[in-house]
Amino acid sequence: MADQLATPARPLRAAVIGAGPSGFYAAAALLKEAEHTVTVDMFDRLVAPDGLVRYGVAPDHQNIKAVAKIFDRTAADPGFRYFGNVEFGKDISHDELRRHYDVVVYATGAQSDRRLNIPGEDLPNSLSAMAFVAWYNGHPDFADLNPDLSCAAAIVVGVGNVAMDVARVLAKSVDELKGTDITDYALKALAKSNIKDIYIVARRGPAQVKFTNAEVREFGHLELADAIVLDDELRLDRASSASIEGDTSMQKNLDYLRAYAEIGLQGKARRVHFRFLLSPVEIIGEEGKIVAVKMEKNQLRPVAGGDISASGTGVFETIPAGMILRAVGYKGVPLPGVPYDRRKGTIPNHLGRVVEPSTEKEVSGEYVVGWAKRGPTGVIGTNKPDSIESVNSLFEDLQKGKLAGCVEPSREAVVDLLQARGVRYVTEAEWQVLDAAEVAAGKEAGKPRVKFVHTADMLAMLEK
Ligand code: NAP
Repeated sequence: MADQLATPARPLRAAVIGAGPSGFYAAAALLKEAEHTVTVDMFDRLVAPDGLVRYGVAPDHQNIKAVAKIFDRTAADPGFRYFGNVEFGKDISHDELRRHYDVVVYATGAQSDRRLNIPGEDLPNSLSAMAFVAWYNGHPDFADLNPDLSCAAAIVVGVGNVAMDVARVLAKSVDELKGTDITDYALKALAKSNIKDIYIVARRGPAQVKFTNAEVREFGHLELADAIVLDDELRLDRASSASIEGDTSMQKNLDYLRAYAEIGLQGKARRVHFRFLLSPVEIIGEEGKIVAVKMEKNQLRPVAGGDISASGTGVFETIPAGMILRAVGYKGVPLPGVPYDRRKGTIPNHLGRVVEPSTEKEVSGEYVVGWAKRGPTGVIGTNKPDSIESVNSLFEDLQKGKLAGCVEPSREAVVDLLQARGVRYVTEAEWQVLDAAEVAAGKEAGKPRVKFVHTADMLAMLEK
């Protein structure tokens, strides 16, 4: 009965799907609510929790990864249980979750990427930055990506922080990376890399970049690579100048770019070129290999709503390169049985309450947080207030008696279900064993950790 929910006799049973930052912030908000009694079961299709903190954040940004300690504290709450290696829709269905939980919170992020939709995009070594990031970070699904780094130049499309991460990793020396938790196979491949020129290509101008100050600043301090910016491409049109008036962060970005233009070539072995007002229109291959990317020069024009958009000028430039990484944004994937907005790649919602896209009717007891809720924007910390907003909606619904209790509220029933099905789920205690083993291996190697990559290796370690 709804009025008995969230009491010591009948705790509110919450399932959080996805163990990334937004899932952990939601779990923390659920467990912290002192006036309610809540238990949280978190499911992730991978063995290891922490989502993008483990598999997305760059290995040379260990300070950002420190947030995992906060997630560990949430996981230590007696009301929390972890079920790693359990895939939503395969190992447990939507209907089963609804049977066992009063509320379900989707924290599944954006697990795919946007495409350029240009000829040649399916050539080998035309990759999403998402896949490349997941490869060097040891994501089990991308360990066999095998990018070809034998070419002389690589093109990174997009000027967000993901573009900056992949360009920086390609530009860094082995010495700059070896003390990080980058996977050994990636470090070995990067050590043999022939890539000397890395082009970061923006379709709009320097006043429309999406990267942040700390990320652009790093390019001024690379051991092996000069940062190159063309004076001509830094000139701002009137609308761009007006658009960044009073925007100190954007002004600072421009200061860094201007400084790079002024310093110019220092004679280092590699070069990172920031290029503006260029859109790739064709990836050119010869004998199945990328040899160049044809670019169209763009011009900017203000559009309704105050934004500034790029359009082609009919003038083309071809940049020789053997690799292209598209860093043009992540995209959600639909979950079986859950509403989905195909255009936005998100789960449609009102303040985190899942709604049916056609009727806008709320789906009682279902909530969404993070990138699955708002799209792939914001840094890790952005997810905290975002998850709190959704959990506040949930508690408001509880207060209003809008939540119907599930039919199988016992904590053991879901364990019985998974065991009967032969699902080898990984508990929080087991993850702690794996985590300690990674950190111990890291200590010996002078790194923060040496990651297990393959699920089979993690499970084998647990059977020892
Ligand atoms: P993003 O910040 O949205 O940047 C996407 C970039 O792709 C933009 O420059 C965009 O240009 C460009 N783009 C989109 N479609 C394009 C097309 N068809 N052709 C050419 N360019 C195109 O996305 P992101 O880099 O994937 O990052 C996602 C989120 O994660 C961001 O909020 C980011 O800050 C965050 N993140 C943070 C860190 C960090 O804190 N260190 C690291 C990684 C990621 P337009 O502006 O012209 O659309």
